Amino acid sequence: MTIENAIRTCLNLLAEVGVGNWNVCVVEDFPENPTHMGLCSYRARTIYLSAKWLDDDAEMLTTMRHEIAHVLSASDRDHGEHFEQALSLVPTQVTCARDFRIARCGPQVEPLP
Ligand SMILES: [Zn+2]
Repeated sequence: MTIENAIRTCLNLLAEVGVGNWNVCVVEDFPENPTHMGLCSYRARTIYLSAKWLDDDAEMLTTMRHEIAHVLSASDRDHGEHFEQALSLVPTQVTCARDFRIARCGPQVEPLP
C-alpha cells in the first residue's frame, strides 16, 4: 500500500472504533529499533507505522490493529488482558494466514502526558 493508503486506512480503522482525535504517521524507520513495525504514542496521540512494511498489506493491517488496540487499552502497556480485549474490538480486515503474526511495537508504549 502507499503511504497515503496506510494513513487513510489506519484513520478509518480508528474511526470505526470511535477514536477520532489521533494522528497517523508513516516513518521511514525506527532508528533505535529497526525491526519494530509500529509505535503508539499517547503523548503525541499518534500511531507511527514503519514504511519498511508498506509492501506487505497484511503486515501493515496487523500492525495497525495492534497499535489501535494500544490506543484503546492505555492502562495496559504489556499486551495483557485489556490489550487482548481491545484487540478483539478492532475490525479484522485481514483474512490471510499471516494475520496471526504479532506486530512488534516499541519497547514500551510512550507514557501518557
Ligand atoms: Zn504492542
